[in-house]
Amino acid sequence: MTDDPLKPATIAAQAAGHVDDLTRGVVPAIHPATTFLRDEAYATGPDGNVYSRSHAPNARMVEDVLARLEGAAETMVFPSGMAAVAAVFRTLPAGACVLVQSQIYWGTTAWIRDFCTRRDVTLIEVEASDTDAFTAACTAHRPALAWVETPSNPWLRIVDIAACAQAVHDAGGLLVADMTTVTPVLTRALDFGADLVMHSATKGLNGHSDVLAGALATRDGGSDTWAAIRADRDMAGAVLGPFEAWLLLRGMRTLPLRMERMSANAQALAEYLADHPRVEAVLYPGLPTHPGHDLAARQMCGGFGPLLSFVVRGGAEAALGAVGRLKLFHRATSLGGVESLVEHRHTIEPHTGIPEGLLRLSVGIEDAGDLRDDLAQALGQ
Ligand SMILES: *Cc1c(COP(=O)(O)O)cnc(C)c1O
Repeated sequence: MTDDPLKPATIAAQAAGHVDDLTRGVVPAIHPATTFLRDEAYATGPDGNVYSRSHAPNARMVEDVLARLEGAAETMVFPSGMAAVAAVFRTLPAGACVLVQSQIYWGTTAWIRDFCTRRDVTLIEVEASDTDAFTAACTAHRPALAWVETPSNPWLRIVDIAACAQAVHDAGGLLVADMTTVTPVLTRALDFGADLVMHSATKGLNGHSDVLAGALATRDGGSDTWAAIRADRDMAGAVLGPFEAWLLLRGMRTLPLRMERMSANAQALAEYLADHPRVEAVLYPGLPTHPGHDLAARQMCGGFGPLLSFVVRGGAEAALGAVGRLKLFHRATSLGGVESLVEHRHTIEPHTGIPEGLLRLSVGIEDAGDLRDDLAQALGQ
């Protein structure tokens, strides 16, 4: 791993030193050009730019900042998180076997199931927060690739990245970690042995609910898998546009500050809800009662993230009643933005075994007292 002399807050705030070289503006320019000049001898310019499907200056700036935050050899950005997921799975040969954590982000599960069926890839789903079950599945199936998500969305399960990396490496495969819910500010999965990290940059990395984007980071810039992903992006064209990349870079400048504040707010709300008579259970790794708390405390640094779920007593009716009374939390999907959101997940994914009374909060950067008061009035004291 790269040993960066600068801390994340400094790298992010200064966008890793990217300025506008032409005007000396402290903010880099947007480069919409799709094609780049060659000189009289037909040589490309100093950056080697030819065509923006392969050479996208704004995307490269984001990749540079993210690589430093992640401690990655290289990163690549994509036009959505799902495009990044797809880029990884498209490297698998037909007939391969993959291990995927059960009860993760529903969009990932649904797409992978469909892809594996169409591509003749054997899919094994396993509860990866159970390290023994994950290790046994690696030994039994020898997967080419294993996919985990920690903390998982919306169950907030914690996966032991180092133990899972060891297990899948012993079986000859790669570990990919979807770290969307916490970003590299709170957990750098490559440091724990993951081979690839995936992010929906739509969420915490951008943090302002106004850019759809995805990212991958690798510990090994020379691996065959990474080369295949890069070739696929260059040729199949899942490239992040310059305006989105510029906006993402702008959003990332405050990433460490936002993650710190969101985590502190989420912790305060989790503690409040844990004592609330109308609440049956709170799923938040920052609570000492959470089964993954000790592991999370070792693996995460600076907080336990913006995502928290809780189960309202009285099932779907009580939960939807409370949701309807909330005034500050927006009733909307997604997570990791500066504004707090609430979701009744059972309405979205009734078939996944999610409790009917479960509400998922993405806690923003508002005043924690205001958010607590809103929950208080909605739940009824
Ligand atoms: C949103 C999300 C994705 C998908 O990302 P998009 O940017 O919506 O395509 C993948 N994983 C997790 C954990 C997510 O929350």
